[in-house]
Order: sequence, then C-alpha cells, then structure tokens
Amino acid sequence: MRFFIISFASIFILWGCESDLASPNATNSLAPQTEIVVDDTGLTLGNPSEAEDNVNFTSNYLIEKPQYTLSYNRARNTANWVAWHLDENHLGNTSRQNDFRPDATLPEGWYQVTSFDYSESGFDRGHLCPSADRSNSVGDNSATFLMSNIMPQAPDLNQGPWVELEIYCRDLVRQGNELYIITGVAGQGGVGNRGFKRSIDSNRHTGIAVPERFWKIILVLPEGENDLERITASTRVIAVDMPNDQDADTRLWSAYRVSVDQLERTTDYDFFSRLAIDLQNSLESKVDQESIN
Ligand code: MN
Ligand code: MN
Repeated sequence: MRFFIISFASIFILWGCESDLASPNATNSLAPQTEIVVDDTGLTLGNPSEAEDNVNFTSNYLIEKPQYTLSYNRARNTANWVAWHLDENHLGNTSRQNDFRPDATLPEGWYQVTSFDYSESGFDRGHLCPSADRSNSVGDNSATFLMSNIMPQAPDLNQGPWVELEIYCRDLVRQGNELYIITGVAGQGGVGNRGFKRSIDSNRHTGIAVPERFWKIILVLPEGENDLERITASTRVIAVDMPNDQDADTRLWSAYRVSVDQLERTTDYDFFSRLAIDLQNSLESKVDQESIN
C-alpha cells in the first residue's frame, strides 16, 4: 500500500496541530488522510471484537497507534489482540530499541504494566506486533516495546515456532507480498520455565494474566493497491493456534495451522468482518496447506 508514507506523515501533522483541530478548515483538509491511517494500522479487514475507544469498554478497549491497533483488557492487564499491516515500507535497518516501558495512553486510573512486572516470572516479554516488523524508524520500532504490545509468553514458544512464523511472514514480504496480520490470546494459564502460572506479579497489587494460547491470522496479498477489493476466495490465509507452554517447540509452526473458523469459535470474534459473508465463509473454513521449507 503506497499510501503509507503519506498517511504516516499526516499523523504527525495531526499530532503537531492538535490545538488547531477545533478549526473547521484544519479538520476538513486532514480528514481524508486520517481514514487512510486507520486502514494502515490494523482495522482494514474489520474490528473482530468490536472494540471501542470508550473507557466503559474495560475488557475490549480500542487503542489505535500509527504502528498497530489493539484491543486492551483492563482485568487481564494485557491486550486481547493486536492487528497491523506489513509491507516492505515497514522493513528497514533500525536495530531493536529494547526500550520496554509502560503505555501511558491507557485510560486514567488503569494500571500501566512495567517491564519489571515480568522479572523472574519464568515468561518472556513476548511481542504481539514483532519488533522486526517495525524496523524502518526508531520511533516505529520503539512503539513495539510499549508493554500494551507485550505478553507473558513461554520462552520455548516465543523463541521457537512463534518467532519462526514471524520470520516466515517477513520472508513473504521480501518475496513481494503485503500482509494483514492479527494476533492475540485465549484462555488463562501457561507454563513458563518456572512452571505453571495463571498470572504473574500476583504478589503485588495487580496481576498480569498469562494466556493459555496464542493465535495469529495472516492474510497474504501480492504487493499492490486497493487491497480489500483484491481479496478473493483463493487469497492465502494462514491461521495458527499455539499453546503457551515449554513444549510448544516440539512442533514446527506449520504444524499448528488451523482454520479461521476454529479461531472464531475459540475467541468468539468475527474476523474479516469487512468482507462479504460468502467470501468470509470460504476463506475461514480452509486450513493453509502450502508446504513450508
Ligand atoms: Mn467464519
Ligand atoms: Mn468472520
């Protein structure tokens, strides 16, 4: 999607001119570009849990960032899901910033998870939107280290099939594709390298829910324009469902492939909701069969 650079610039213009937004002229001249920004940050295929930017939505609170979009769950102190677009414009040479830090954009009064909360938990600080998927600038890469994009993830999952699938996605992009990716969690309770835990940091005033499973859905398109209109029943979709435990690395990522319909049943979300129902039905009922080297 070539609008990325333009749309990204417009977001900084918007931030820089926030006090001018009351002016009707400023709003009108910027409005069309803001819509493009939304399309590039994760909701292009729909908002699977109908998350809203409304503090009463405590278990399904929508946060849109230039780099990714997420639904946050105050009771779990983690996201439910994170969605983003990945094309060659997002890939560069920026090194990992490693600046894990609280997300100050959470609503006032909500606990802001810190990096320290994960200390000695037996779980990795697992990225949902990977650091390496946002390597075209320091700012974009740094945004992936906000703790709202981080999950307690079993080390052998994070450093095994999970990262292997992330690498596979970037290989698809380097081969000329662009991807729409959404990833999230289900259930509670996982096995890290210090054993089973339902939550971490539970000795303090709040606990961070440990997911039971991590899932991911990837829609693959050849690089191009008008992405929504190009999706057909033969568009490749890869969906996986992996256990959050130290045995996850006994299988390759490709052995965890499932249908989107199965993930819809697990999560009670509606993925691809902006696509026609017939198209959803055909894309969602299949399990990716492509052979993986
Ligand atoms: Mn379905
Ligand atoms: Mn659906």
